[in-house]
Amino acid sequence: MPSKTSTEQDPAQAALRALPGVGPRVAEKLEKLGICRIDHLLLHLPRVYEDRTRTIPIDQLQPNQRCSVVGFVRSARVETYRGRRLRVMLEDDSGATLELFFMRFSRFQQDQLAVGQMVRCFGEVKLYRRALRMFHPDYDILTDSSSTQNLECLTPVYSVTSGLAQISLRKLIARALEWAEENRTLLEHPIWEELFERENLPRFVDALRHLHTPAQGVDVAAIMSDSDPARERLILEELAAFQLSFARMRERALRQQAPPITKGEELVGRFRESLPFAFTEAQERVVREIRQDLLRDQPMMRLLQGDVGSGKTVVAVSAALCAVDSGMQVAVMAPTELLAEQLYRCFREWLQELDIGVTYLSSAQTKKQKEDIYAQIRTNQVPIVVGTHALIQKGVSFKCLGLLIIDEQHRFGVHQRMELQRKGAQGELRPHQLIMTATPIPRSLAMIVYGRLEASYLDELPPGRKPVKTAVMAETRREELMERIRNACLQGQQAYWVCTLVEESDALQCEAAESSWRRLCDALPELNIGLVHGRMKAVEKERALQQFKSGELQLLVATTVIEVGVDVPNASLMVVENAERLGLAQLHQLRGRVGRSTQQSSCVLLYKPPLTEGARMRIRIMRESNDGFEIAREDLRLRGPGQLLGARQAGEMVFRVADLSRDERQLQRIAALTREFMEHAPEAVDELTHRWLGESRELGSV
Ligand code: ADP
Ligand code: MG
Repeated sequence: MPSKTSTEQDPAQAALRALPGVGPRVAEKLEKLGICRIDHLLLHLPRVYEDRTRTIPIDQLQPNQRCSVVGFVRSARVETYRGRRLRVMLEDDSGATLELFFMRFSRFQQDQLAVGQMVRCFGEVKLYRRALRMFHPDYDILTDSSSTQNLECLTPVYSVTSGLAQISLRKLIARALEWAEENRTLLEHPIWEELFERENLPRFVDALRHLHTPAQGVDVAAIMSDSDPARERLILEELAAFQLSFARMRERALRQQAPPITKGEELVGRFRESLPFAFTEAQERVVREIRQDLLRDQPMMRLLQGDVGSGKTVVAVSAALCAVDSGMQVAVMAPTELLAEQLYRCFREWLQELDIGVTYLSSAQTKKQKEDIYAQIRTNQVPIVVGTHALIQKGVSFKCLGLLIIDEQHRFGVHQRMELQRKGAQGELRPHQLIMTATPIPRSLAMIVYGRLEASYLDELPPGRKPVKTAVMAETRREELMERIRNACLQGQQAYWVCTLVEESDALQCEAAESSWRRLCDALPELNIGLVHGRMKAVEKERALQQFKSGELQLLVATTVIEVGVDVPNASLMVVENAERLGLAQLHQLRGRVGRSTQQSSCVLLYKPPLTEGARMRIRIMRESNDGFEIAREDLRLRGPGQLLGARQAGEMVFRVADLSRDERQLQRIAALTREFMEHAPEAVDELTHRWLGESRELGSV
């Protein structure tokens, strides 16, 4: 069935637009949370729940207690001494008072919290100069009709994005739930519901209602876990949707023809001889696996997994050479400009000796440059082209594309990329596909995530690599650290200084990097220090990286743009600022920029105390392990289901409710469900995959 191309045709998207409170501005914010349809909004499940059902009289409040208080506003005033503050005194029947204190507030809030207003607020009680205070509590204005509402159930707390407040999102989701009750037939497919009923699991809408508004007294730990039937239903459905969508893709692929790639032996041999090192056994094996696939007249769909630094690029080049030797073209696609540019340099450097042309296509190039490259591609003047998504834009037309290599790095978005390359395929013949990822997931799980993709594993690092030594330091010891960098660099080592900010704002992150760079330049005048961040022009970024690579720069200050793909083997020291704010996967990727040669490397994680419990755990894991698989497992374990959306904002494609480390044992059940569904309701597969894989649809319709 062809996927819908016009957004107007999608009733679930129209329903979201029609929901009261969703205007263009809110719709844009929702999109940031991955919500484009009403079912996506419904599947935006609470991150945690708070029990606000019991209110506590003010005279019985204890410091450091998180609780609800109901009272009326006795006074409210704005202070302007040292910045604007809003101080609201709340009084209840007990006659005691509690101060609500706001350092940021809007005019609207100021008006809302007018004298005499009944308010229910929730927050942590603090003792401040012998008076009780709540800083920035969540609050509701109680009117007659709302005063009893919400009291029987726990309060959901959602992941939000800047510009979309918790309270607004809560209202939107409550409205969406009402809509769902009235429109069950749009959300619940009879056959699908029957299958779940047989498993004794609740219907879709009932499961959602339960998870968004659990009744008072339910065990919060239980609803957060997969032992809850409502959550279990959604987990099975989500994983089944993934499987179905991959099954579809696979089916399509099997009907397709690909040009067999039969040559390459000799050329790959020459490539190996030109390298200063020998292939690892794992590289040998994987190259063999790929060559077997390429011989066939059906498109290869192979996933190459290998931890950071395992040498995936060598494998990619070898595969490319087979295609080139057989007279075919190769496209190499990377998710970002920086990464694509790095890959390009790597390919070019290695292939120069073999006298094989490589070109680079970027969306930043001028029209004229692009036209030239398009012409080269059209006529197969240059057999290998590296680039970003620019590669599959209109205008790019390959003469004889035999192989598509996608350097996926740690992103899960394989599904989207494959959709894209389906769009990008040329003529009758489909290219073979090699997808490279550093996301270490166990084999059986790879089956769920990637369907029946063939998988190869680079399970061995090049010889002589020493595990990176990781140290943890409070940022107060910065001076000491600079001394260490000075000494290391003066002895010929090179170092990264990574600035991180979790804020969505790219601008803030770049500013932080610039000010760190200035500070480091002042403190270490004897070193050549470069800067790379996302807001610099591509050429400037690339220049800085090249200077670092050539050794002209000893210290490189960077944002997390260097997280993936950057390869400067001589760099052996890395400092990560605000390490406590990063997730494990990201830290592991960053740290993977050092330890890429035989010298001992180290990584210093700087943090701002105090550490939250989660941050403490992450940092401990980083200190104890260098193994991508182990770190990924811990990562999945630490991030509860609700946390996953956070990661998704950082650009990873992750599950809404499923948890790979936990749900592996559901594999058989999921396979059975998908089989039956395919058999009895094949026409509804698209709807189900759109619900769960929303973004791929967006991309798919580009
Ligand atoms: P990744 O898998 O993270 O993409 P790369 O392909 O960038 O890893 O390789 C990491 C580094 O290891 C590069 O500098 C590369 O030249 C080097 N390398 C790759 N294979 C070998 C090998 N067999 N022996 C020694 N060094 C290798
Ligand atoms: Mg790489």
